[in-house]
Amino acid sequence: MREERAKRAAPPAALLRVSNRAKKLCVIGDPVEHSKSPLIQNAMIEALGLDYLYLCQPVPRGACARWLECAQFAGYAGFNATMPHKQELLPLMDALDGDASLFGAVNTVCLRDGKAYGYNTDGEGFIRALAAEGIFPAGMSVLLLGAGGAAKAVALKLAQQGARRVFVSNRTEEKARQLCAQDPLGRLYPAGFDRESLRALAAGTDLVVNCTSLGMEGTRGQFEDFSFLGALPQDAAVVDLIYAPAETELLRQAARRGHKAVNGMGLLIQQAVLSLEHFTGIQIDPVCVQGAVEAALKAG
Ligand code: NAP
Repeated sequence: MREERAKRAAPPAALLRVSNRAKKLCVIGDPVEHSKSPLIQNAMIEALGLDYLYLCQPVPRGACARWLECAQFAGYAGFNATMPHKQELLPLMDALDGDASLFGAVNTVCLRDGKAYGYNTDGEGFIRALAAEGIFPAGMSVLLLGAGGAAKAVALKLAQQGARRVFVSNRTEEKARQLCAQDPLGRLYPAGFDRESLRALAAGTDLVVNCTSLGMEGTRGQFEDFSFLGALPQDAAVVDLIYAPAETELLRQAARRGHKAVNGMGLLIQQAVLSLEHFTGIQIDPVCVQGAVEAALKAG
């Protein structure tokens, strides 16, 4: 009985190893409890032997300015931001990196010498994840499915990286049009999401990127039809931003037809690595932390 009580009273193992000099990091959001960032970042911090601690911090919508003051006062080294704070943080930054300006969203903030520096790691994380798979978008014709938050960063970054053209195909076509209108390079084209449009576009496509939530674990949505994959050139690659399940039905169907099929785990890890690089100022080889992150995600 006493043993049982002691077990229940024991603090989480991670807290036992926090030094008094540990630099504080966190993810803010509303809601934020579902975030995998603490799990991923603490796994990398531990694997690299860094003296940092990464927490989960609920911040209500509309309270980013107050949070920034609190974080500065409490000596935070930085934080990540998820919904709905990515836009609200923009005007509160002392400086923005190019991608945060381009996407109109901040997902990583570094606090240094009383100043807030805003970054966005979504696009660069995606490009690094592609490169790790030997996929280089310059000159490619891309069929991008979706026009939500992730699609915006991916589409604009693909255009910036020299993709020849990116067809943004979305159920709500108006959202695709709005996204494409934000491309300063004129390489994004809105497209329909119906079977005929997808089949026609697939024929000249080098790379398909699924940025919709179709096929994601815990949701019921699924592609109604995969026949567009049959129209792809044989050497076209198919990338899904979804990482749970590890193999979505889209990827299974693509692999069955002989296409290179890549899930969203690489993006998840690469953008987390980029954030930690910004926070710490050190360069991190994603290969060194991949095992630790995957093990933490499996256990957590
Ligand atoms: P979002 O802003 O909510 O966008 C969702 C997109 O999915 C929209 O384009 C939406 O179309 C489309 N969609 C949803 N249900 C649909 C349906 N039944 N039929 C057709 N289209 C449908 O979400 P997000 O933040 O961009 O995320 C999109 C996906 O990327 C999610 O699965 C997310 O887990 C994944 N993701 C992964 C990573 C990573 O690190 N690997 C990072 C970010 C996102 P409408 O505009 O018509 O509603």
